[in-house]
Amino acid sequence: MKVLKFGGTSVGSAQRMKQVAALISDGPPKIVVLSAMSGTTNTLVEITDYLYKKNPEGANDVINQLATKYERHVCELYATDEYRAETRRFLHGQFSYLSSFTKDVFTPSEEKVILAQGELISTNMMTNYLKEQGVDVVLLPALEFMRTDKDGEPDLEYIREKLQAQLALHPDADLYITQGFICRNAFGEVDNLQRGGSDYSASLIGAAIQAEEIQIWTDIDGMHNNDPRIVEKTTPVRHLLFEEAAELAYFGAKILHPTCIQPAKFANIPVRLLNTMVPSAEGTTISNIPTTDSAHIKAVAAKDNITAIKIKSGRMLLAYGFLRKVFEIFESYQTSIDMICTSEVGVSVTIDNTRHLNEILTDLKQYGTVSVDNDMCIVCVVGDMEWENIGFEAKAIDAMCDIPIRMISYGGSNYNISFLIKESDKKRALQSLSESLFS
Ligand code: ASP
Ligand code: MG
Repeated sequence: MKVLKFGGTSVGSAQRMKQVAALISDGPPKIVVLSAMSGTTNTLVEITDYLYKKNPEGANDVINQLATKYERHVCELYATDEYRAETRRFLHGQFSYLSSFTKDVFTPSEEKVILAQGELISTNMMTNYLKEQGVDVVLLPALEFMRTDKDGEPDLEYIREKLQAQLALHPDADLYITQGFICRNAFGEVDNLQRGGSDYSASLIGAAIQAEEIQIWTDIDGMHNNDPRIVEKTTPVRHLLFEEAAELAYFGAKILHPTCIQPAKFANIPVRLLNTMVPSAEGTTISNIPTTDSAHIKAVAAKDNITAIKIKSGRMLLAYGFLRKVFEIFESYQTSIDMICTSEVGVSVTIDNTRHLNEILTDLKQYGTVSVDNDMCIVCVVGDMEWENIGFEAKAIDAMCDIPIRMISYGGSNYNISFLIKESDKKRALQSLSESLFS
């Protein structure tokens, strides 16, 4: 069995839903995980905003606009009055349900219920469309099997058991549709796997049924070797190790959600990134198996809005416990450190969350002289760069020879070299790296 996930844009209009239906309606058995139609979850968030602010009128306005939008989708998607009527009945129920929240006190558990509606709607619409097309399809309710434990982590045992039970109810089915993103928490309340969590759902489902493969369908032909918005002539990377994908995920290589990597990696299930617009394109395969030509640099990525903090202190020389004290300050302000470089008399770290920057700086001053560089950018070179292989670092650093570099980090894993530079040098750096590494 394969697991296929289609994101919000892939099901973002009646037209796109029909394309997805054509891709899934025959072939080997599969579970198809859908996001909400693009924009819907944001609209649901807007509704909850109004409800928190005790403005039921605002909420109702947005609900009505959403209902109008869906009425258009219904007209365009279905060919028969029967399925239009059936889907309208369903949607009417959903929208009246949403309106019912405008009458009471509003709490976070109700917010979760509202956010779940987007996926409930998209999967119902797709299932009805497939039925109208004469395709045999089973709608699997994610709320019956997807669950988090009391730490908010997916409860893998529960998911495996309940999903198997759901599948067993339809032993002859070849096509199952289910909701991404939504789940229940340890108390059985409706919850979700955080924004963008549909990839995570697909990965968890794949792991639970030990799927042959997990396919993440978006509208780009795989993960590119550099940022196509900045650098010309980027190309898709054909193969990545999970470790490499994990390094890239931090850099918002948007096409795969970071949480999706772990379950698939542990269950040893390859993840393929495919393009709904060009279904025959090869895309990117992420797996645990190095390809024969694996030892090379595969991709470059960058992240802006980075702040670098340097703590310099003679007290650090030959002392122990200095780094712990420094790190504890960041921990106490729940600020995660991304890049780090040390020397005998100083340490530099980067953060991307500056909410508590001032408090952190004040506390750090107990331990040394503190300085800050704003508007920095991490550029990261990713590949299978086992340290005993020579030349990778030299090549990457050579490409950066005209660019002022604030920090360099290599050796934290075999899979990345990171450079901290000024945001204003990012474009130049990415272009130069692409030219030297990939052309
Ligand atoms: N619909 C959810 C969101 O927009 C989940 C997803 O699309 O992955 O965040
Ligand atoms: Mg999405």
